[in-house]
Amino acid sequence: MRKTVSFTRHSANVFFHILTRCNLHCRHCYINPDQHGRNTLEIDTIDRWLTLFARRHPSPNVIFLGGEPTLHPDLAGAVKRSRGLGYASVTIDTNGYLFHNILDRVTPDEVDYFSFSLDGPSPSVNDPLRGDGSFEQCTRGIAAAKQSGFSVSLIYTVSRANIDHLRHMPPLLAELGVDRFFIQVIGVRGQWTEDAQRVETLSQVDRDTWLEVIPPVAKAAARQGIAVTFPKVFLDPEEPFECAGMVADNYFIFPNGRVYRCPLCEDYPMHSLEIRDDRLVKTAKVNEADLFPLFISEGCIMNRIIQPRNLPPAVNGKPPYKIACCMLKEKITPIDAKAG
Ligand code: SF4
Ligand code: SF4
Repeated sequence: MRKTVSFTRHSANVFFHILTRCNLHCRHCYINPDQHGRNTLEIDTIDRWLTLFARRHPSPNVIFLGGEPTLHPDLAGAVKRSRGLGYASVTIDTNGYLFHNILDRVTPDEVDYFSFSLDGPSPSVNDPLRGDGSFEQCTRGIAAAKQSGFSVSLIYTVSRANIDHLRHMPPLLAELGVDRFFIQVIGVRGQWTEDAQRVETLSQVDRDTWLEVIPPVAKAAARQGIAVTFPKVFLDPEEPFECAGMVADNYFIFPNGRVYRCPLCEDYPMHSLEIRDDRLVKTAKVNEADLFPLFISEGCIMNRIIQPRNLPPAVNGKPPYKIACCMLKEKITPIDAKAG
């Protein structure tokens, strides 16, 4: 049984990009240094910004991101500080290279999950997308994290380049001992622009293909004892549409101080908040927050603006489906998989 996961209205999620530098050059990398900055935050700044959000929300969750966050020499200090400030959960997103001996400098009590990115079940699928040797390094990193007692998530970003190989992931996930599996949809951000649609293989998959492939693979992984989360992407016309920018507390923080509420806006200077002198301040109009309340029958307004190709052509004047908020997820747990 699949469950749509409602936006959490009572807990805040802090997606903290502590630097934008990375050792890899993934073809679909969403980082855009022109918009997000090229600096590496000092540990004192990280500390103050963590404090800012810990004061604003009770027990928020923090996800450390980059670039590659393990390239930051003080990541371990940032993790320990998060715990001290009362963050409810701490996750480190990594490409698997695990720099600065990070596994030896934090403990499973301090880090809830190491979240690895892998875009194929073999080097022949993954490495053309993420770089030569990245499959081996990532799987080796997962094994090392498990060996050290950490819980591990794996994120697979789906495009036409790798959707046919997704069905081979559940056995690999089981073999690696992965605890949670996140299927992600490729987005029009960073290195990947609408121009990439010309590169056929990197295109987003259409609705029929998505619905045919994703839920069965998610179920197969859940049957292996792994909790699986994937974006809903499409809504039936009668399903309610909600914009996470209006009903959830997600903060996407970049090292230049920009704070977005919507990940699809990150390629544009449309951030609604900014950290200035260690205070969170609203930015001038027009920004992302001015767009969130605009209602369109096709669902997400940002899809209309930046990836209109995703929108369905109207049938009898009405769209046959809506585009969901990119933050809306479905979840299948191992128990759900057994139940149905
Ligand atoms: S997607 Fe992640 S791992 Fe790949 S280049 Fe971008 S920041 Fe690095
Ligand atoms: S993706 Fe669309 S629906 Fe979700 S926060 Fe952004 S504008 Fe709102």
